[in-house]
Amino acid sequence: MSACWLEADGDPAALETAMYGLVERLYPICRSITGPGVRETLAMLRELVPLEVHEVPSGTQAFDWTVPPEWTIHDAWIKDPQGRKVVDFRRSNLHVVSYSRPVHTRLSLGALRSHLVSLPDRPSWIPYRTTYYDDAWGFCVAHETLEALPEGEYEVCIDATLAPGHLTYGELLLPGATMDEVLVSCHVCHPSLCNDNLSGIAVATYLARLVGSRPRRYSYRFLFVPGTIGSITWLSRNEATVGRIRHGLVLTGVGDPGGFTYKRSRRGNAPIDRAAAHVLRHQEVPATLRDFSPYGYDERQYCSPGFDLPVGCLMRSPHGEYPEYHTSADDLQFVRPRALAESLAVAASIVAVLEGDRRYVNTSPKGEPRLGKRGIYRSMGGGLDTRSAEMALLWVLSFSDGRHTLLDIADRSGLPFASVRRAADVLREHHLLRDVTAADTGPRS
Ligand code: ZN
Repeated sequence: MSACWLEADGDPAALETAMYGLVERLYPICRSITGPGVRETLAMLRELVPLEVHEVPSGTQAFDWTVPPEWTIHDAWIKDPQGRKVVDFRRSNLHVVSYSRPVHTRLSLGALRSHLVSLPDRPSWIPYRTTYYDDAWGFCVAHETLEALPEGEYEVCIDATLAPGHLTYGELLLPGATMDEVLVSCHVCHPSLCNDNLSGIAVATYLARLVGSRPRRYSYRFLFVPGTIGSITWLSRNEATVGRIRHGLVLTGVGDPGGFTYKRSRRGNAPIDRAAAHVLRHQEVPATLRDFSPYGYDERQYCSPGFDLPVGCLMRSPHGEYPEYHTSADDLQFVRPRALAESLAVAASIVAVLEGDRRYVNTSPKGEPRLGKRGIYRSMGGGLDTRSAEMALLWVLSFSDGRHTLLDIADRSGLPFASVRRAADVLREHHLLRDVTAADTGPRS
């Protein structure tokens, strides 16, 4: 993968270790859409990136939604008729249905069963379930545990509070040369699940570090928000400025070893969609492109018709299409250090395309300019194979007519964007190109 603008510094193995290490540290925390787990998560991320943490009071209206009471879970268990803890929140935070109301009662096995969820075809896995907007409680258990429960009276306890508090989210703005923004968003509301939430958090965090260390044309806004209510709340508080968002990417499920999946924005042909398609075509891991559908992650909110922002979603195996999804098997073994680093490389290459895409006019368009006499072949040297370097020069000269962008030229030629960008840099140094990129990106005021 070549992406000169954003090649990761230093040792790739060290980067893999660091990203995976972040997932390991975040894994034990019991997150939900509100509560101390999100704060603890954001505090850990602040060791790596200077996030601003926002607290929005319960009861705040966000379009058709209301910020819910804050949920804090202290402990939860089920004791069998002999008083043995057969289900224990301290062994897995998936055991409690997220946002369960507090309960402490005794009941028969029959009555208890209606509060238990299991996966009969994966008997050793614990499912993950939520009950955010219903006044309910429940436990998620391995089916083999459920099957082994004897008849009799059970004692259950969910020691939790649901009380006025806040919804917490993290935001990082990295200002660029213009106020036009690239939005990168991930969700931070799942408990001990690695691919579904922690992988996106790790890739977004390290992408922010990378982007922050480079000069850049765009401003970058990274959001670490609870799913749905978090993005809706953010949109409702930033409605006046969302028009600055030129490109956006939701990062989720980017740590499993499966191929890449890119889900297009609702617009379907936004520059982010073309940039992602281009990058995925030129990297080694198999990749699939999908059209937008109003189901999935926070792209649903960013792309809702009242905003229709150009936001796509980068994943590996799509949610709901791998058996580990929303179960205890989405664990530290399921996510791979190499997969995290590959996903970061793809996201960084997409950013490199957005940053580097320009429109030029060939200043010597009558016949081909003589490149040899200008020493241009020599300038192109340095590692690139000579034939493709020459092709890139010819393609850029031929299609720099003020109408085609470098991404258009890369797609049409089949050459990777980085080669085309490099050829354009060399031609520009030799005054053979003039930048006519439309003035759609004003200077920073
Ligand atoms: Zn999920």
